Amino acid sequence: MSKVSIVRCNSYEQKKVEEAVRKSLQLIGGIDDIIKPQDKVLLKVNMINSDPPEKASTTHPAILRAIIRIVKEMGAKPLVGDAPGVAYRYIERAWQKTGFRKAAEEEGAEVINFKEVKEIDNSANKRIPILHIAKEVLDADVVISLPKLKTHSFTLFTGAIKNLYGTIPGFRKKGLHALAPRPQDFAELMVDIFSVVNPSLAIMDGVIGMEGDGPVSGSPRKIGLVLASKDLVSLDAIASNIIGYHPFEIEITKAAAKRDLGIGELEKIKIKGVPLNEVKIEDFKLASNLNGLLKRVPPFVFSILRPTASLLLKVTPDVDEKSCKKCGDCIEACPVKAIEMGNHSYPIINRKRCIRCFCCTEVCPYGAMKIKRNWLAKKLKI
Ligand code: SF4
Ligand code: SF4
Repeated sequence: MSKVSIVRCNSYEQKKVEEAVRKSLQLIGGIDDIIKPQDKVLLKVNMINSDPPEKASTTHPAILRAIIRIVKEMGAKPLVGDAPGVAYRYIERAWQKTGFRKAAEEEGAEVINFKEVKEIDNSANKRIPILHIAKEVLDADVVISLPKLKTHSFTLFTGAIKNLYGTIPGFRKKGLHALAPRPQDFAELMVDIFSVVNPSLAIMDGVIGMEGDGPVSGSPRKIGLVLASKDLVSLDAIASNIIGYHPFEIEITKAAAKRDLGIGELEKIKIKGVPLNEVKIEDFKLASNLNGLLKRVPPFVFSILRPTASLLLKVTPDVDEKSCKKCGDCIEACPVKAIEMGNHSYPIINRKRCIRCFCCTEVCPYGAMKIKRNWLAKKLKI
């Protein structure tokens, strides 16, 4: 039986966060079995973009500080790494704005940009027979996922496993999105990555999560929790259930459990700390579930329905021209070349081609790529 700890933490005051993180680890039996002195411990933060911590898009640096201290106390070497979808030229800005650079340097951890890759045979997946995973991740002795508890407009929920998408460096991610456009295909891809990276532990920042149009365009929502587990499937099952999902509504959790990479059934997971029924949030605003509706149809029907549904329901990325700085990053990030510069140099989206991955909303450095809904989508609460 897997264990997931749930610990209350009502603010990002460093002392409180550190107490909560330590308690969350103690409740799952400590981490002496995971980390040995001299180990290189890769802390995979969620640095999806260059938002400041108060926007709740990224793991809060107080969580990072806490785990760096713990890793150092164990005589191991903490490394902090990620590869957001933003262009390489913006990565340093992301490290700075998210507060990760300051936290890592002040606590004595090295920051790593994932660039070099190792080719991994993935031929069991016919769509994506080779994975390119960051070398630094594969070279680490221990990997710890540090996700933020958020909704996700494509995968509905993003947690400990989805956080590993950042182990694929930079724009290589966009090619994968194009090869796995349906949520089920993308889930299989994520589980392929998960099985290769094989983190030993995840500590989730659920102090302030994100509801609505996550992972970057939603609203911060106070949840007041830190969660930890050595079973990332169980952690995601519990976290998604807290905000209102059945664990297997989340394709990634379902696919990972099906491959026996962890336990996703709630009744088989032991909660340590605060009981699950005391922390569930009834009115958490979930992500668009258009993908949830479409996931039940076969692939060939999906390819026909998707553009039509997107047109009828109009849950689409949309450029806010007042905020757009015409940098073109959304164009560069789009995996299916659905965006081009229009006559007035603002991006124009080809809605028939768009697969609604929302990579463009993630990478826009100015928050100018919004998610828009028409009246039907609003009425159906999609
Ligand atoms: S336009 Fe945006 S949401 Fe649509 S496919 Fe391109 S990146 Fe994805
Ligand atoms: S929408 Fe954002 S990413 Fe795209 S051109 Fe405008 S500012 Fe750049």
